[in-house]
Amino acid sequence: MNSEEYPVTFPALSVQNVTYRYQSRFAKNPEAVITELSYTIEAGSIVGILGPNGSGKSTLLKLLARVFTKQEGSIELFGQNIEQLSQADIARIVAFVPQETQQVFPFTIGEMVLMGRFPHHAGLGGCHWEDPEDLAIAQSAMQDLDVVHLADRLITDVSGGERQRAIIARALAQHPKILLLDEPTAFLDLHHQLDIARILRRLNQDRGLTVVLVSHDLNLASQSCDQLLLLDHGQMVKRGTPEEVIMPDVLEQVYGCAVLVDRHPQSGMPRVSLPV
Ligand code: ADP
Ligand code: MG
Repeated sequence: MNSEEYPVTFPALSVQNVTYRYQSRFAKNPEAVITELSYTIEAGSIVGILGPNGSGKSTLLKLLARVFTKQEGSIELFGQNIEQLSQADIARIVAFVPQETQQVFPFTIGEMVLMGRFPHHAGLGGCHWEDPEDLAIAQSAMQDLDVVHLADRLITDVSGGERQRAIIARALAQHPKILLLDEPTAFLDLHHQLDIARILRRLNQDRGLTVVLVSHDLNLASQSCDQLLLLDHGQMVKRGTPEEVIMPDVLEQVYGCAVLVDRHPQSGMPRVSLPV
């Protein structure tokens, strides 16, 4: 599939009756961690995947990135069966920022962000591939994520938050149609959390980027997302707009604790706090 000609008539991602089990050497029939899940992500939307620890959020994201392959059901990427696409095809369309970002190879941050351009040069057989446009795109992604001053630093020698920003910069440099992010703000200070939220919104509006983010931060999700999917034990509990999902009875049922929901004074979106 040519990433420039993706059919807009199809949803960005369509998940139908998907079930996934991690294989086990000890259990013949391991329990499913995603069970008969059906969900559609419209092109150009920002979707938040929420749920308690272990509810299957990261597993679902890895299925969408085809890091894992589902055992049952189907996943379509712009109308095409994801299993029939090559990894190179997928990489030109989907960028994935995983939750665990341990880096073992000592690349500099600049080199690493530039690697985001690689899928656009597949087939060049490893010869010189970066052109001035690639450098400009990598530079702009580093500016967006405030890591330009770290460009010559090794990725192994920066803080967790700096590493996370560099990895998001690489994903942006990939110029994907769909960006999948697993807890993108987990290690970030407030300033950089706000930056990420604004950058995602800007890319969504300017470039029509479809964003799927897993977050524990219900307020960030409520403020940033058009649609939310709430999971529990690998099943969909609720989907809809933040107003439809961020409701005290829904959250209390899933998280098993009392929550207060009021409205954000500026945006008017639902805001969650704990009655401690
Ligand atoms: P979440 O991201 O919502 O916290 P995960 O998708 O990571 O949840 O995990 C869902 C379930 O799958 C959990 O019960 C978790 O223990 C299990 N799980 C996650 N990764 C593996 C793995 N590599 N092997 C076996 N079980 C796993
Ligand atoms: Mg997770």
